[in-house]
Amino acid sequence: MPTYDLIVIGAGPGGYVCAIRAAQLGLKVACVEGRETLGGTCLNVGCIPSKALLHASHMLHETHENFAKMGLMDAHVNVDWTRMQAYKAETVSTNTKGIEFLFKKNKIDWIKGWAEIEGPGKVKVGDTTYETKNIVIASGSEPSSLKGVTVDNAGGIVVDSTGALALPGIPKSMVVIGAGVIGLELGSVYARLGAEVTVVEFLDVITPGMDGEVQKQFQRILAKQGLKFVMGAAVSGVTVENGTAKVAYTLRKDNSEHVIEAATVLVATGRRPYVAGLGLDKAGVALTDRGFVQVDNHWQTSVPGIYAIGDAVPGPMLAHKAEDEGMAVAEVIAGKHGHVNYNVIPGVIYTTPEVASVGLTEEAAKETNRKIKVSKFPFMGNARAKALFQAEGFVKMIADAETDRVLGCHIIGPNAGEMIHEVCVAMEFGASAQDIALTCHAHPTCSEAVREAALALGDGAIHV
Ligand SMILES: Cc1cc2nc3c(=O)[nH]c(=O)nc-3n(C[C@H](O)[C@H](O)[C@H](O)COP(=O)(O)OP(=O)(O)OC[C@H]3O[C@@H](n4cnc5c(N)ncnc54)[C@H](O)[C@@H]3O)c2cc1C
Repeated sequence: MPTYDLIVIGAGPGGYVCAIRAAQLGLKVACVEGRETLGGTCLNVGCIPSKALLHASHMLHETHENFAKMGLMDAHVNVDWTRMQAYKAETVSTNTKGIEFLFKKNKIDWIKGWAEIEGPGKVKVGDTTYETKNIVIASGSEPSSLKGVTVDNAGGIVVDSTGALALPGIPKSMVVIGAGVIGLELGSVYARLGAEVTVVEFLDVITPGMDGEVQKQFQRILAKQGLKFVMGAAVSGVTVENGTAKVAYTLRKDNSEHVIEAATVLVATGRRPYVAGLGLDKAGVALTDRGFVQVDNHWQTSVPGIYAIGDAVPGPMLAHKAEDEGMAVAEVIAGKHGHVNYNVIPGVIYTTPEVASVGLTEEAAKETNRKIKVSKFPFMGNARAKALFQAEGFVKMIADAETDRVLGCHIIGPNAGEMIHEVCVAMEFGASAQDIALTCHAHPTCSEAVREAALALGDGAIHV
């Protein structure tokens, strides 16, 4: 039985990246994964399959909404759901196999099965106990449950995100409970595919935590695309009768009770850390009051030699946050200085248009009690966005009024998820808005709108 330097539990973006970096740094590494395939939630039932369906349904939307405007006439596109599911599955499997290849290349042992920590340096999988100098818990998360709602993914009527990615067919109507990122992405998919989609949200705003102006404009755009919103509504239960779901909710403003029917209900009320079966109690690994694995700023748990990263620990539940922590903790274990800058973690919603943000929102920046300046450049002033029929959004930039240092940026517009990275790099370098404004941006690109927003924080944008 080999003794490892590191056993990683979970092969999601946190775990597999950690394993690869640790192997690159010369450690003898194994990674335990309970699923049949590598890649975790992200590759199997999260980021990748959802983006495949978003891409396919966006293409359909283009043929319906924009082809004729461009002189591309009579595009009659029929949806073959089985084929679309196959495309999604192929996209997933090329990616999960890619991780398998990287494990082999980096000589990482893939231990198949569910891991239990028996104590520091001891990981049990099946009947075998493996010895290791260090353990990284990267066990990820699972969908949160909602009181009064029983999810049955196999039934295809009341589903969570995993079920919604593999519905037996395109439903005529869908209620999405929760206006967060996952609910809005998957709601958009089915709205574009022809379902009547109603989003029921407890709060009065969508995508909690995002910049207020972005929230409002985003909701307006989604409503124009056909999504209906019931805001300030507390769902009390979901029942299924004769193959139809009934969602009961109470409007918080007047306590009135309502019921809405749908062929499918997607419960998208968030995710919670997944630590079941790991034996954390026995191993003495402490959890936070919200059930996350408690870590210090080097990702070490309450037990020396046992670390934790990704969705299982506090912080934004994002694949790239997990990856960054995976790399950083591998470096810490290898005796280097792993670091994650939590102030510069972008967040992206892959709807059309995309929504992307990094750093402080205007609301959060004001709370810091410093003087700030805020600019907003509309994509109506950007030639490329107009050609793409996606000029309804804007780039909003927030900088320190005294130093001009960029504090945050919020984009709602075409390719926002790609564009945000120039601001991430700028923020990592402590750049001023003027640094971005003085940087030549190629024309015609949507990125010019980022420069214009930076110009607007100085002597003024050009195209407004
Ligand atoms: C529908 C959907 C869409 C998403 N889209 C995006 C997106 O576009 N961008 C983004 O950044 N994030 C997205 N996310 C979130 C993203 O998937 C997660 O933040 C990310 O996967 C977290 O990575 P992780 O490595 O911490 O955990 P996970 O990816 O959850 O991986 C954990 C792995 O550990 C395994 N495991 C758990 N316990 C054990 C055990 N005891 N033994 C062995 N194996 C174990 C699990 O089987 C799992 O494979 C999305 C999520 C969903 C559900």
